Amino acid sequence: MSDQTATRVKVRFAPSPTGFLHIGGARTALYNWLYAKHTGGEFFVRIEDTDTERSEERFTEDILATLRWLGLNWDGELVYQSKRMDRYRDLALDLVRQGHAYFCTCSEAEIEATRQVQMAQGLKPQYGRTCRDKGLSTGVIRAKIPLDGHVEFADLIRGPIRFENRDLDDFVLLRSNGAPTYNFTVVVDDLDMHMTHVIRGDDHINNTPKQIHVYRFLKGALPQFAHLPMILGDDKKKLSKRHGAVSTQDYRHEGYLPEALLNFLVRLGWSHGDQEIFSMEEMTKFFDFDAVQKSGAVFNREKLLWINGEHIRRVDSERLREIILEDQTTGWDARARERLHHKKTAELVAIIQPKIKLIRELAEQLEPLCTPGVCPVDIHSVKWPKDPEIAVTVKSRVRKAVERLLEDWGSEFHGRSLVPSPWAAWNESSSLNDAGISIFDIEGRMRALCEVGGVKLGELAQPMRLCLSGRLVSAGVFELLAVLPWSVVDARLRQLLVLLEQ
Ligand code: GLU
Repeated sequence: MSDQTATRVKVRFAPSPTGFLHIGGARTALYNWLYAKHTGGEFFVRIEDTDTERSEERFTEDILATLRWLGLNWDGELVYQSKRMDRYRDLALDLVRQGHAYFCTCSEAEIEATRQVQMAQGLKPQYGRTCRDKGLSTGVIRAKIPLDGHVEFADLIRGPIRFENRDLDDFVLLRSNGAPTYNFTVVVDDLDMHMTHVIRGDDHINNTPKQIHVYRFLKGALPQFAHLPMILGDDKKKLSKRHGAVSTQDYRHEGYLPEALLNFLVRLGWSHGDQEIFSMEEMTKFFDFDAVQKSGAVFNREKLLWINGEHIRRVDSERLREIILEDQTTGWDARARERLHHKKTAELVAIIQPKIKLIRELAEQLEPLCTPGVCPVDIHSVKWPKDPEIAVTVKSRVRKAVERLLEDWGSEFHGRSLVPSPWAAWNESSSLNDAGISIFDIEGRMRALCEVGGVKLGELAQPMRLCLSGRLVSAGVFELLAVLPWSVVDARLRQLLVLLEQ
């Protein structure tokens, strides 16, 4: 082995499939993945499924699907602890033979009684070491932790951490039914998988000294440890479901982009100057432990939403079209869904994209633009002037302007879109799909129309936008005029005329 191979970083993400992959787990996976990529190392995934009661296949599937969605691809084969039971048992028995572990037959009740006495004396409750020197050959197998001395390790985030051996329990390595415990399997696997770094949440800090003893028993080289700060809710309490610590996939369905979620997660405990928005390349380039904070990181949903909006603006419209096509079209009008299959719909996406923060909003605003005919709208939702008389005058000015627009533009654009449109190619004759005018021409024409009709652009734009897009909040009216085919513009503006009469 060359020196370079010998020192190549190897890290792992080791989830227990006892629940959906939550935000904290996703961040741990990300930090491992980033560190591997940053150093040119390797990132592995190990499924810690020895707890057969609580582990479920559907959770493993969720975890792996989420990692794939996030793009946190792993190297090599997945490792399943459930397939390595013989290995754990053999090594536990070896440790008994070598005097590093022993069988114990104490009952739960006996152990509990000792704990009660210890607590009454103000001592830390732990196993009373009753069977430590009995030389038994059945029962659970416990680690034989030295009675004095200490363990110390240099955490990459928290610096040196020291534990006294007398405070460490003779913890169980193998239960009497042969099931190994986490503190044992994790070390066996990290050694067998040649991990150089163990990066995990700081809820595991108290496990680390126990694991270091197992490393010593097995004569294995210690990895470097990095314990990540806890993620806190905005009330500074440990993040829970109440704060939105739902499954990571829920964020996908709510309309978050994977790179936005990763950007948000990377900032939960790590910083690079005051930069907030990172591409994956930037994260990979800049990530290191010296900029990971020790204290808890606060989860802020508003910030996540903002970051998502920033990333949505940066993404190729075609990719957003594909995401909507895959994820969000249940409940869509069948004709609209059909249009969504056409690549040119990306042009419709492009006019909405700068204005929204969630892909779900994009999907909602896109549907009426892909649906032929008029949209159901409530004309009263437009902000008309409060004074009824003024409102009547404004409505009449708007109506006249729209009539003029239909008349002037209609003769010119009949059968086309104003600019090449995703629709034009499908339902209009192809030679007519480009009226050859730009969005700036549309703006100029609209302004001229307002001037002639003595109507303010805002007064005209709001009801027009409502009828053209079915919504008050949508893409701008110039863009809508540009991308919708004239037949649709015509139908929707005629609907506006009718509504203005009411
Ligand atoms: N299965 C453990 C967990 O999900 C792994 C901890 C570790 O990385 O050592 O918390």
